[in-house]
Amino acid sequence: MKKLSIRDLDLKGKRVFMRVDFNVPMKEGKVGDDSRIRATLPTIQYALERGARVILASHLGRPKGERNKKYSLLPVQDYLAGVDFINSVEFADDCVGDEARSMSEVLEDGEVLLLENLRFHKEEEENDEGFAKQLAELCDGLYVNDAFGTAHRAHASTAGITRHVEKSAAGLLMEKELEYLGRVLESPERPFVAILGGAKVSDKIPVINSFISRRVDKILIGGAMAYTFFKAAGFNTGKSLVEDEMMDTAREIRKRAEAEGVRLVLPTDHQVVDSYDPLNSRKTIPVEFTNQGLVGLDIGRETVALFSKEVEDAKTIIWNGPMGVFEEKGFEEGTVGVARAVAAAAERGATVIVGGGDSVSAVQQAGVADKITHISTGGGATLEFLAGDELPGVAALNDK
Ligand code: AMP
Repeated sequence: MKKLSIRDLDLKGKRVFMRVDFNVPMKEGKVGDDSRIRATLPTIQYALERGARVILASHLGRPKGERNKKYSLLPVQDYLAGVDFINSVEFADDCVGDEARSMSEVLEDGEVLLLENLRFHKEEEENDEGFAKQLAELCDGLYVNDAFGTAHRAHASTAGITRHVEKSAAGLLMEKELEYLGRVLESPERPFVAILGGAKVSDKIPVINSFISRRVDKILIGGAMAYTFFKAAGFNTGKSLVEDEMMDTAREIRKRAEAEGVRLVLPTDHQVVDSYDPLNSRKTIPVEFTNQGLVGLDIGRETVALFSKEVEDAKTIIWNGPMGVFEEKGFEEGTVGVARAVAAAAERGATVIVGGGDSVSAVQQAGVADKITHISTGGGATLEFLAGDELPGVAALNDK
């Protein structure tokens, strides 16, 4: 790793400003799914065990620069108080100002101070210099970023703050993300297969282009994305979700892939419903038999078998985006099937990286999460990284 790591810092007795990703769903005033918090606990534990005084800062939701109780991080204090290696966790009602400052000053070694939602101030997303400086003043010149999921944003707590501290380092989770994703970009073992799904081609163009430039061996495309490619090739896609303005782009991508020797693999069958009778008309048909009234909502079994075969000998697999409307009962089979196929490849020794909220829930739903080599905590950040862009939150960290 080229970037400074928390392991390079002398933490004893120091107040460390740690940017974490506690952007978790809340349920009746409590933390719902705690995956994001658990992912960053090793970094917090590492710092506390070395006698650091840890100041935790995060955003939650989109409060648009205003205080809003709905987006308070207070429930996370309760959660952290229940973590076995955390002995003391205080909560500052505002992430800047006198109260936060005096609370940070009385912190003892091995204690935690959690700050209220950074995005209660519009200056956070504006990467405001003065606000970044106020955040930095809470610590003793040491900054750690463990929030990979927001590293693609240049905000005060991910970028600006680093201009006002002595040392800016990656946390253990950030380091792990950069290592796994970096290795895939720089020296992937082959065959290298990318699987892309979800609704929007437009969101994924940079990453598809980057995969083609890096000459991945195959790109498997499922989800609604596939219909934009089908329609661009002259197929009838019925009432399936298509991005009409992306038709030319889809044709260009196909041409580029062919020129670079990258195989684009599209579904051969799909689960459809009749748009006039969606509840009673589910059936699986070959993609070329789609008529005007049909909506495609998942890949079919033949396609699951095809995609499973395509990843069989893979040594590196990257998966982002569901194969269908998997959050609706009855249309999760394709996505769960692909989750099983990539898990089986991982068991055969392939490096398998799954990113993006939906694909991550799918591997959990399929019960194979523990088999996946690396589950990335980033959605947009993972895609931007894989597209070859330097993330502002990573660029801002000191080099080793
Ligand atoms: P994205 O944000 O582009 O990764 O898209 C994720 C969304 O794509 C999920 O909410 C899925 O329900 C949706 N999706 C996947 N396949 C289809 C499909 N065939 N038709 C409509 N939506 C889909």
